[in-house]
Amino acid sequence: MVRLFALPTMATEEKNYWLETATIPAGEVRPLPENVDVAVVGSGVTGLSAARILAKRGISVAVFEAETFGWGASSRNGGMVLTGLKLPVPQMIARYGREPVQRMYAASLASIDCVEQIVREEQIDCYFSRCGHLEVACKRAHFEGYAESAALIAREFRHNLRIVAKSELRSEIGSDIYYGGLVDEMSAGLNPARYVAGLAVAVKRAGATMFDQARVESVARADHPGGPKYRLHTAKGSLWAREVLLASGAYTGDVTPALRKKIIPIGSYIIATEVLSQELARELSPKNRMIYDSKHFLYYYRLTPDNRMLFGGRAAFFPETKSTVRQSAEILRRGMIRVYPQLRDSKVEFVWGGTLDFAFDVMPHTGRSDGMYYALGYAGHGVAMGTYLGTKIAGVILGEPDAIPFNSIPFPSPPLGLRSGHTWALPLAGAYYKFLDWVS
Ligand SMILES: Cc1cc2nc3c(=O)[nH]c(=O)nc-3n(C[C@H](O)[C@H](O)[C@H](O)COP(=O)(O)OP(=O)(O)OC[C@H]3O[C@@H](n4cnc5c(N)ncnc54)[C@H](O)[C@@H]3O)c2cc1C
Repeated sequence: MVRLFALPTMATEEKNYWLETATIPAGEVRPLPENVDVAVVGSGVTGLSAARILAKRGISVAVFEAETFGWGASSRNGGMVLTGLKLPVPQMIARYGREPVQRMYAASLASIDCVEQIVREEQIDCYFSRCGHLEVACKRAHFEGYAESAALIAREFRHNLRIVAKSELRSEIGSDIYYGGLVDEMSAGLNPARYVAGLAVAVKRAGATMFDQARVESVARADHPGGPKYRLHTAKGSLWAREVLLASGAYTGDVTPALRKKIIPIGSYIIATEVLSQELARELSPKNRMIYDSKHFLYYYRLTPDNRMLFGGRAAFFPETKSTVRQSAEILRRGMIRVYPQLRDSKVEFVWGGTLDFAFDVMPHTGRSDGMYYALGYAGHGVAMGTYLGTKIAGVILGEPDAIPFNSIPFPSPPLGLRSGHTWALPLAGAYYKFLDWVS
């Protein structure tokens, strides 16, 4: 068929599909308390899962969110609850040694259970499902590497992945462009906006005070009649806190410059099609997996519970603006059709972007910065790892021993004095990843 007209309509205004399906609770209308035990800065999965534990243990907690609850990456992501970490296992072992990496990988597996347990305990209606994930190989060499990586993961972590040969790939994905796949049945999927909204409700129910539209404008250690504490000035007033948890992820700003400079904010974008027929949806993803490809500059995709194809990628290395969102939508649509020519005529109804939190060593980090606790750097694995590390850091704040495996690793500063977030540096990072995809 000769196509005479432009391809079907394309959403060009930013609209997050997940937020259309969720009700984000509103914050307090009362004034700030004078004092709290713990102030949490940021209300994504990290801050809320920490606040939940603290409040349940009877600690007075105030959560501060600059926008609406869950406004950052936590309501915008792909909803993939993934095992493993972003860095390949051999690279991690070479860097940290076997035993620490065993504990890190165990944390990644425990993080899926942690999400499941919270969803169950708090009865969060977010379509959590242990659907598994599928990694698809973009090159023959990538597929050939799967056998070795599955054997290593089985040996080191007693965790089994399944290799899918190209000849069997149609049972996993309705696309012929890949060289094979690797399945992890333990991973899960959920609706992230409903998940973070449910977490916010749970935190409120546990007794924390929660303030939205309450950006923390400054925070510093200061003298207090009862001994030194942190003084926070927010858009809604000021208060004292005995401890502070920085859970601001990729949106960490100049309020905490020491932490900000260690985080590279990377834009990631998602499109979602119109609702597809049940047959087409099943053809595209017969087992309803969370899917991503083997490139550095990767695509990730999945069906939504109402059978839209949600297709995301690191399509631009700038945090989102109107024009990066529009450009990204076009790039992603072309990418989606390359994977799934079946979607050539499907309308794209949603496009949105968000910012990912990468550390310079591509690892998660927890610890203390200027005395304040933090957890961030999830590099695209934050739904599960952010929930888990938020929960764990709450334990540390409560005085439990700190056995978090990401606490003891070095947290690098920008190389060569580069300041993170420098706009000119981000396209360079993008070009570098594209180069890696070309050569490896
Ligand atoms: C498009 C996209 C797709 C992704 N897909 C996946 C996926 O499928 N699976 C996965 O595991 N991970 C994914 N991620 C990553 C994941 O979403 C994040 O790692 C995770 O949500 C981080 O959670 P967080 O609570 O640490 O930070 P965030 O959710 O980003 O929350 C930080 C909050 O802090 C607030 N804040 C910042 N500064 C202040 C201040 N001074 N005062 C008050 N509030 C402040 C911000 O407004 C923000 O709401 C994706 C990310 C993006 C952007």
